Amino acid sequence: MTRAWLAELGRVALILLAALVLGLIAGQLVWMLFAGLLFALGFHLYQLYRVHRWITQAEDRDNPPDAMGVWGELVDSLYRFGKRHRKRKERLASLLDRFNEFTSAMPDATVVIGPNNEIRWLNEAATALLGLNSPQDMGVRLTNLIRHPDFIAYLSGGDYHEPLELTSPVHDDVRLSVRIVPFGNHERLLAARDISYLYRIEQMRRDFVANVSHELRTPLTVLMGYLETFVDMEEEFPPPLQRSLSHMQGQATRMQGIIEDLLMLSRLDGEGPHASEQSAVAIPGLVSALREDAQALSAGGHKIDAEIDETLWLRGDAKELHSAFANLVSNAVRYTPQGGKIVLRWTSDGAGATFEVRDSGIGIDPEHIPRLTERFYRVNKDRSRDTGGTGLGLAIVKHVMQRHGARLIIRSKPGEGSVFVCLFPPARVVRKTQEVQTAST
Ligand code: ADP
Repeated sequence: MTRAWLAELGRVALILLAALVLGLIAGQLVWMLFAGLLFALGFHLYQLYRVHRWITQAEDRDNPPDAMGVWGELVDSLYRFGKRHRKRKERLASLLDRFNEFTSAMPDATVVIGPNNEIRWLNEAATALLGLNSPQDMGVRLTNLIRHPDFIAYLSGGDYHEPLELTSPVHDDVRLSVRIVPFGNHERLLAARDISYLYRIEQMRRDFVANVSHELRTPLTVLMGYLETFVDMEEEFPPPLQRSLSHMQGQATRMQGIIEDLLMLSRLDGEGPHASEQSAVAIPGLVSALREDAQALSAGGHKIDAEIDETLWLRGDAKELHSAFANLVSNAVRYTPQGGKIVLRWTSDGAGATFEVRDSGIGIDPEHIPRLTERFYRVNKDRSRDTGGTGLGLAIVKHVMQRHGARLIIRSKPGEGSVFVCLFPPARVVRKTQEVQTAST
């Protein structure tokens, strides 16, 4: 028990003692004791009234009442607690002010969304870049306000590792990079950054590559025409010149390959993120044709087998798929020494579809595998050049796969061969009956 409580009890005891003595003297013991108790109760009620008034009247907060005993201690504690609470409140309010200043100064649009995609908070840039308004749009589902199908798919997809590029819903000339970060209790933070400047530079780069390739194509075709004529009359030239002519023709053909591949990449760049799903491509026929092309390229140097699911078709772009698969098949022939084995497989595991090219060739060191799809990346430049490579084949494959929602998986070991696998999602798979397939191919 604290000293204040002991003093308080002592005070009550003193009042009762005084009432007892006075009661005995006056011969009115009961009445005097009753009066003493009434006095003690009145005193405490009065203290309670003062404390209550002090607590409930805001203007008196800094003037605590002078109270005795336990009441004094109680008032002191309440006063200290209130002061601490007010200080913390002020600190939080100033922090909130600074946070608001900071978020409004931020050039990136920031939106907090709840588990049902409802908007919980947004900053000023979200109004400028995404056309969202506070407080009108609070609680409204974000997908009702930003209706772009890519955005809706990205938000509901749940895979936020890569940012999404999007045209601003309010300005057609503003390109945004949108990122989503999950946090807290099923909440997500959406950040959208204006990348129009980068996008324009990227667009310029693409246009430049496309224009240069296009401009080079015509003069090269003319040069190749002359070279062909000279090669046709090569008996008329001395042997060293004959060798130079054939070398020149080889290099010109290579250059033509590079230009065609660059044009293909430019076309893919300009086509948007998804290949059309309108028509189903007869992949079984395409793979059989590729097997024959591979046999011609190998000129009997390899054993080439194919396992084809004849009813398995794919929604996509026939030209792009042909280009991608042909690159993988030609790589298998070019990087597999004579006598090696190549297997093409077009199958389904029940869900998606798989195109696989397996070779028993030279293989690839693991350190190179992550970089193989970069433009002009080659493990061995000389070998690529000697076999007519452009260094752009796998870049095209990767691009085509992305446009078809597919994944490219590369497994390889030096000296043991390689497997290139294209995994297509179930949404693009079409099952054709044997009759339809025969009629259409
Ligand atoms: P390239 O025209 O040089 O073949 P690609 O983009 O098609 O260009 O391939 C990039 C590099 O990947 C090649 O230079 C080669 O080193 C390696 N590569 C591709 N396919 C195979 C394969 N089947 N076996 C071994 N290496 C391969």
